[in-house]
Amino acid sequence: MSSASSVDHLTFHGRDFYVKRDELIDPLLSGNKYRKLYSLIQRPAEQHDIIISFGGTQSNAMLSLAALCRQKGWVFHYTSKPVPLHLKDNLTGNLKMALELGMQLHEVALEDYGQETLRLKSQRDDSTLFVPQGGADPLAQGGIEVLAEEIKQWQQEHDIETLNVVTPSGTGTTAYYLASALPDVTVLTTAVVGDKPYLESQMEMLGGLPLSLRILENRKKYHFAKPYPEFLAIYQELQEAGIEFDLIYAPKMWHTLLQQIDSVEGDILYVHSGGLFGNESMLDRYCHKGF
Ligand SMILES: *Cc1c(COP(=O)(O)O)cnc(C)c1O
Repeated sequence: MSSASSVDHLTFHGRDFYVKRDELIDPLLSGNKYRKLYSLIQRPAEQHDIIISFGGTQSNAMLSLAALCRQKGWVFHYTSKPVPLHLKDNLTGNLKMALELGMQLHEVALEDYGQETLRLKSQRDDSTLFVPQGGADPLAQGGIEVLAEEIKQWQQEHDIETLNVVTPSGTGTTAYYLASALPDVTVLTTAVVGDKPYLESQMEMLGGLPLSLRILENRKKYHFAKPYPEFLAIYQELQEAGIEFDLIYAPKMWHTLLQQIDSVEGDILYVHSGGLFGNESMLDRYCHKGF
């Protein structure tokens, strides 16, 4: 798993793009979660016994950690808010798979959730590792630097002078470390969780807004992980153009990028951030909505 992911060409809405196929690295441990957990993947299994994390019940980070812990023989404890009844009755997607991989789920009442996550953060000893929600951690830096190195090499081999690297942001961890490692490239992102001020504050926490980072804003306000017909349309168009993307992050990134495409000079490399396994449950939700 140490060789570079491939780069493919994609024509979309009359424009040329390159796509770095990080979603093909592994079905469960793919995309930016593979990159963010890379340092952990490299660690010998003896180094930890238990991994602790918390967050959403269909989170991609949760699934990737579950897959990693299964490979390493680590026990994975994951704390969440109560699982919605409809999901309990009909387990699908990331939660179903993570449980099958042996994840120990701890549901905490809404009113106790904040307190409980604070307690988890302070609970640490030598053999227990706490991974923050979404993998937003300096731990991610090493693996994203490997990604940055692959991009630099590809850029040189293809003699590309002006390069824009595109990737959607949740916690902003991927975009932050990518922009920090690629000062001569413009990293374009958009806030999929929260808005631009939220994303900027995330970057401040990680070490300050990188100069090479540009945060694009959509003309419309979207809520995280909600179904929107225009997002489904863009997902389908991308699939017809030859590549399947995830249904939570990629549609808003592509939608926003297309709105502002005339302001982007040079070549564009979209780094596929993975997350395809979660599409099953998201497509169910689109179906229920009647889209
Ligand atoms: C987690 C995730 C992101 C967001 O990554 P951050 O580093 O948290 O900004 C983007 N796309 C997909 C598919 C993801 O699973």
